[in-house]
Amino acid sequence: MPQEPNDPFLEEMAKMNGPLPVYHPVRPSAPPPVAAPPADTLCWHCKKRIDAQDNYCRHCGYGQGSHVKWYYKHWGIVVSTFMIGPFSLIFAWRSPLLSRTAKLVYLVVIGGGSVWLAFEMYNAVMAGLSYLTGGGALGQALNGSI
Ligand SMILES: [Zn+2]
Repeated sequence: MPQEPNDPFLEEMAKMNGPLPVYHPVRPSAPPPVAAPPADTLCWHCKKRIDAQDNYCRHCGYGQGSHVKWYYKHWGIVVSTFMIGPFSLIFAWRSPLLSRTAKLVYLVVIGGGSVWLAFEMYNAVMAGLSYLTGGGALGQALNGSI
């Protein structure tokens, strides 16, 4: 508890014993260094300025660095490709983690794979229809040859 300097008891003590030692609270010898203002870090999503150490954008709430949503990461894009097919390309393209080269690789692999898969499915469906209709009446109808 701080002592009042004009406490008569303390003044009497000071007359008898000399001035009381002044209590200095313990301070760090040097003030903590002021962090240099971080270089402008921009949110990859909304492009507003954020602190470099921010894990999440304070404007739009999107994760930064290693805190981005899982579907923007390499494994997440692979997983989401199995879940939503070529729509995972949207995530791959918007991902702040992937280089442009990686995005192009995903575009070729996922896009090309999807086209190939669609083509194979189309052939399978047409083959099945041809089988079910006993030799191509529907196929001929679809081809406009009837
Ligand atoms: Zn943002």
